[in-house]
Amino acid sequence: MSKQREARCNCGKLSVEAQGEPAWVSACSCQACQRRTGAPFGVMAFFPMEQLSIAGDAKRWKRPCDSTNEAVHHFCANCGSTVYVESEATPGILAIAVGCFTDPDFPQPQFAAWGEHRHNWIAFPESCREVQGQDFS
Ligand SMILES: [Zn+2]
Ligand SMILES: [Zn+2]
Repeated sequence: MSKQREARCNCGKLSVEAQGEPAWVSACSCQACQRRTGAPFGVMAFFPMEQLSIAGDAKRWKRPCDSTNEAVHHFCANCGSTVYVESEATPGILAIAVGCFTDPDFPQPQFAAWGEHRHNWIAFPESCREVQGQDFS
């Protein structure tokens, strides 16, 4: 049986159940992620849609983007937590906010994007490859 995890907002009205492991996990220090989370960086776990089931109604906000890829934040209308983000760059895949799992054993990020905006006191582990911008190729 594959692993099952639940990500949810603070009040519990919006949740996502994820089956199995994420395709990848990445940290991001871009300014949009800083503002989205209120934290110095965001961490997202990318899951194919077919591994996910969503419960509750998300409010959507399409964020303006420096790159050509648009991202849509999905958040709880009641408490405001962003639970997942949909991006044009990754069709068929949803990025789930790792903090919403509140799981200290959640797999750590393999990538860290937007190193140029990383707060100076933060050091990602060596196993987490940091890039400028978001080009991991
Ligand atoms: Zn909520
Ligand atoms: Zn970001």
